Formats: sequence, C-alpha cells, structure tokens
Amino acid sequence: MSTPFQIVILGSGSAYPGKQRHHTAQFLIIGRDRLLLDCGEGTQFRMVEEGVWAPHRILITHAHGDHFLGLPGLLLSLASDYPGRPLQIYAPASLYEEFGFLFRSWWAGLSLDLPIVRHVVPTDRPTLIFQSRFARVWAFPVEHSIPTVGYWFCEHKAPWKLLPDQLEALQIPPALRHPLQWGKPVQIHNQKIDPSMVGVPAPPPRTYAYITDTRALSCTHLPPFLKNVDVLYHEATYAQTDAHLAHHHYHSTTQDAARIAQQCNARLLLIGHASSRYAHLNPLVNEARKIFPNTFFAEEGLRISIEETQILVQTRDKTTIATIPRTYATPPSAQNEQKKEKDR
Ligand SMILES: [Zn+2]
Repeated sequence: MSTPFQIVILGSGSAYPGKQRHHTAQFLIIGRDRLLLDCGEGTQFRMVEEGVWAPHRILITHAHGDHFLGLPGLLLSLASDYPGRPLQIYAPASLYEEFGFLFRSWWAGLSLDLPIVRHVVPTDRPTLIFQSRFARVWAFPVEHSIPTVGYWFCEHKAPWKLLPDQLEALQIPPALRHPLQWGKPVQIHNQKIDPSMVGVPAPPPRTYAYITDTRALSCTHLPPFLKNVDVLYHEATYAQTDAHLAHHHYHSTTQDAARIAQQCNARLLLIGHASSRYAHLNPLVNEARKIFPNTFFAEEGLRISIEETQILVQTRDKTTIATIPRTYATPPSAQNEQKKEKDR
C-alpha cells in the first residue's frame, strides 16, 4: 500500500463570485505533507467543510485577490490552533511587496504567535522550491497579466524490489544490494549485473501539476518535467467560443487546457477557474473531452487519489466516478519475474 497522494478541491471559481463556487484553493496530501495551493476568500471554511486542516506549507501562484485573500482569516485561525508553529509560505515577490501588510503591521498589531517563513518564488525560470521527506516541488513561470507560477509535485523515487532467489542464484553480497536497489548496475566476478537481472523496478513516482491563471502556453514554454504527469490541473476560464476574451484577459479556454494535457501526455486533466458567466459546467467539460477524453471539472469536494496502479476520482462521500489505470512500461526481464511471482 503506497503512501497517500490526494488532491482535495476546495474552490474552483474564477475572480467574480458565483453560486456554489468558491475562489481557487486546493489541499494536497503527499505522505504526511499537507499543502495548501492558493487561498482564495473563504478557504478556511471550505477546509473545515472538507475535513482538511493545518497545512504545513501554503503555495500561492500570484498576487491576484481571488488566489490569496483567504490568508488573513486562515492565518488567524492557525495562530490560535498552533501557537509558535512555523508556517512556510511560498509566493512570487509581488505578493510580499504589494500586500506585505498581511505579514507585517497587521500581524504584529495582533501580537499573534505564528512565525511565518516567507519564501520568494522566482517567476522567470523553473526552480526547485523545496524538498520534504516525501516529495520535491518545482515552480515554473506561466503567462498571466502579472508574474505567476505553476507548481509541479513529484514524490521521491521508490527503490527496486530485489528478488531473493535471483540474489541467491547470482551470489550478490549484501554490500552490493544497495546500488542495485537504486537502479545502478554493479560488477561482480567480472560480470556486470544489471538491476533488471535481480529485481523489479518500482512504479514511476506519482506527479501532479497545478497551472492556474495563464494564457495558453506554447509547448516550448512547458518545462520538460511536466511530461507524463499523472494529473494536470489547468484553468479553463472560458469556453472555446470566447477564445478572444481568454486571450485578452490572459486566461485559457477549455481546449487550450486539453491541448496542454495532450502535449504533456497527462493521464487525467482537471479543469477549473471557470468564469461565473457559465451556469453549466458540462458543456465546458465536453469541449475539452473532444481533444482530451480523460477530462473532469474540478468540482468542489472532489478528491483525486493517485495510487500506484490507478487514479481514482471520487466525490466527497467517496463515490468513485472514474478509475484511470496508471500503466507504465516495465523492462522485459522484470515482466518475466512478475509473471513468475503470479504463477507461484
Ligand atoms: Zn489572476
């Protein structure tokens, strides 16, 4: 059983308030990491409704109000819940420059004990912003009306599963097993031992990409690490017929999002940030599905779990609405071993 890797949708509306639609926010659980992605107004109430709380880190994409105005209330609550516990915040410099009062005078005046560690996220190049015990996280620039980033989350690689019979047969001493576990060949009695001769690789690390508020990106803008991403969240503020508005307001259409998912060879696409002008979401999803069939709207309360062998899309009450197999290439030698194990 793998560690959890789950996305909980807290808000999927765009800037203007809409019925049943909150401003952008998502909660991401990777192992024991609890991350909040963006924090629009009302996010703390949405977190309580969805049963998620106490993020270790908050990642903000840009300094537009619908992506961060939930911070004051949430920080106040966290200060009273966890006094003295440092909170890491990652955001482009403009958030601290233009809205520094959120982190300085207002805060100091309340004499609250919440040490905020501010990290400035570069907006001009892909950057590794942190690594935890469970994952590493990169930020990368997107194309919006102000400096804005997307984020990419990748769990750490798991070791190969070494097969005792093969180790025994080839007389691999314990000291040489560690490099093999990490996919490195070793030399023994003048023979090169490839990891595939004695083990089975772990499934590729699970990944998630979060791209909100951007014009359609060209493939030359996409950082290479997005290739084969398991789940891509991409804004789709506008329907395809309103493509001129999307371009004018530095946003994307449903089919822009679908094309990016296709270029990334994603397994699943979540679209969101839909303009409040659209009363119904199904037509937006159907437009994207013409290009990328595995598309879902990031409706509030949706949970997406990336497991080793499948991706589950579930409602708040755990009803599964889609299961997408997480297939990956396995070296032929490992396939033989897996078959042998099955036959046993
Ligand atoms: Zn924006």
